[in-house]
This record gives sequence, C-alpha cells and structure tokens, in this order.
Amino acid sequence: MMIVMKPSATEDEIAAVVDRVEGVGAVAHLSRGEEVTVIGAVGDREHVARLELEGSPGVAQVVPILKPYKLASAQLRSGQRSVLDIAGRRVGGGNFAMIAGPCTVESRQQTLDTAHIVKDAGATMFRGGAYKPRTSPYAFQGLGQEGLRLLAEAKEQTGLPVVTELMDARDLEAVLEVADVIQVGTRNMQNYPLLAEIGRSGCPALLKRGMSSTLEELLMAAEYILKEGNERVMLCERGIRTFETAYRATLDLTAVPVLKELSHLPVIVDPSHAVGRRDLVGPLSLAAAAVGADGIIVEIHPEPEEAICDGPQALRADGFADYLDQVQRAAALAGNVLSAV
Ligand code: PEP
Ligand code: MN
Repeated sequence: MMIVMKPSATEDEIAAVVDRVEGVGAVAHLSRGEEVTVIGAVGDREHVARLELEGSPGVAQVVPILKPYKLASAQLRSGQRSVLDIAGRRVGGGNFAMIAGPCTVESRQQTLDTAHIVKDAGATMFRGGAYKPRTSPYAFQGLGQEGLRLLAEAKEQTGLPVVTELMDARDLEAVLEVADVIQVGTRNMQNYPLLAEIGRSGCPALLKRGMSSTLEELLMAAEYILKEGNERVMLCERGIRTFETAYRATLDLTAVPVLKELSHLPVIVDPSHAVGRRDLVGPLSLAAAAVGADGIIVEIHPEPEEAICDGPQALRADGFADYLDQVQRAAALAGNVLSAV
C-alpha cells in the first residue's frame, strides 16, 4: 500500500511511519516529491493491512497498490520516473541510453574493434555476449570466461560500461567481475531463481521481455529482481511472437508508452532481435526513440558477413555515427537526451 504524507509532515512523523511499516516485517520505499513524501509499504498483504495508519500524525491518505506488481508499479513512485545510475551513466527520466555491440564476443580483434567504433560514435554502453542462449545445442555457445576477459579489456580501453548476458547463476561471480549491467535474455525472463540471484547481486539488470510474455508477466519478472532490494532494472522490448512470419519477431512499440504508464522503470528497445534485418533496424530505432523509449540496444559488427551469430541484423561500422545522430534527434522529439559521460 501507499502511505501519502501531508505536505506539512515532519521528518519524525515520516520516520515513525517507516518504523511501523518495518515493524510488521514489510519494506518501506520512500519517494520524496516536491510537495509530498509517499511511502510504499510492500510485504505480506495481511501484515500490511493490519498497519491501520489512517489518522496517524502526518499521514494524509492510505491507498492500496492495485497491481500485482508493487515495486515495479508507477504508483509506487507517484508517477516519478526512475533514473538509474550505471557506472556514471544516467538512464531514464529524460536520459537516453545507446547500448551497442556485437551479438557475441568472437575474438579479441572483433571485440576491441567494435568497442572502439561504439565509443567513437558516442554511445553510452557496450554490449556483447560471452554466454549465448542458442536455439541449437550444436551452435556456438559463446566464449564463456575467455569472452568475459575480452569484455574487460574492451571496457578498460574504452571506458564504456559493459552489458552482458547471464544464463546460469553458477557464472554469476565471473560475470560480476566485468558486467555493469547483467542482461536477462528473452528465454530466461521467467527463470525466477536466476532473477532473484541477480536481485541479490545488486548489479543493474536489463530484463528482456519473454518472446511470448505479456507486459504484466514482464513486470512480475522485474518484481523478482526488485524484491531483493535491487532497484536498478531496465525493461526491454525485443519483439514478440505473433502470427506474422515475414520477419523474425513483431516489435511491439505500443509496449513502450504502456510500460511507462504502468511502471517507473526505464524502457529500452532492441530492434535488432525483433526484426532480424539490418535495413529495418534504423527505421525501427527511430520509431522506438520517437515513441519515448529510454534507450536502444542494438547489434553492430565490423564484418557482419563473418559474424558467428546474428550477422544479418548487425549494423555496419560505417554509418553507425550517422545512425546514432538520427536516433538522438528522434529521442529529442520525445524529450530525451543521449546519456554519455
Ligand atoms: C541477444 O541480445 O543477443 C539475445 C540473444 O537476445 P534475446 O534474448 O532478446 O533473443
Ligand atoms: Mn544476438
């Protein structure tokens, strides 16, 4: 439930409410607006209901959080957007993130070359997978620890924060050595023990929408991470399965404004995996930025024809700076500015 304090509420009155909430084993989330402070009480429903805070000193109103997801709900923050700090880069609340890199870390040369292209164009973060979720068990599964080492080198050379996927909680410690953001792939969106581990790690997470998941299921998945005390979660629309087979997946751009209505968390769009075709990645990126996405995650490769994985959808190095320039202009239409240090 939400406890809305009076504009005149004192710090002592706020602290007393927090104490009462914590006293029943619930967690109190404070959000301080310009006028009023709102305290979200999240925990066992019956314990929270027994609080009876109406009429307590400084309390204006007690309102239930109606959605099944609580910490992810827009209501918890009374409409204020979350701004995440990721290694000094801000994401959300007007700060637009451009995350770019190869699908897969393939070699030292390919990784470092791509990282420099991404850095020189002025992007916000570098992406690359060391552990790859492949449909076929016979396909290249990623370089694993060696891939993580190459990502660390790319980070050291460019200073770009690194986004990389975790599939197995047993690799968490190794991934945390280099990851500034842990990506949860579409296939793992409902791997709840993995989500909880990422939550406990405190590492920022990019949570991709399951390819057959509803927005409510995505937000419930985010709740698993948030519930462990990790507030830095980005939601990612990456295309869903529909009856249409003319392209890889259907990019659900309606999800962007609707997720932003339902949740305070930043919403990132991945046009690469949605469409699967390089020529359409640009236009869809512009559409995503214009509709208010808080960032884009996109694949780029110095030699897409040689890519081990997802070559047909990888942007080419030449043209990437122009692409980023155009995306920035589209983002500006929605009031967002590229986040870079
Ligand atoms: C990826 O980002 O390379 C990837 C495998 O994405 P998804 O989980 O969205 O398919
Ligand atoms: Mn990929």
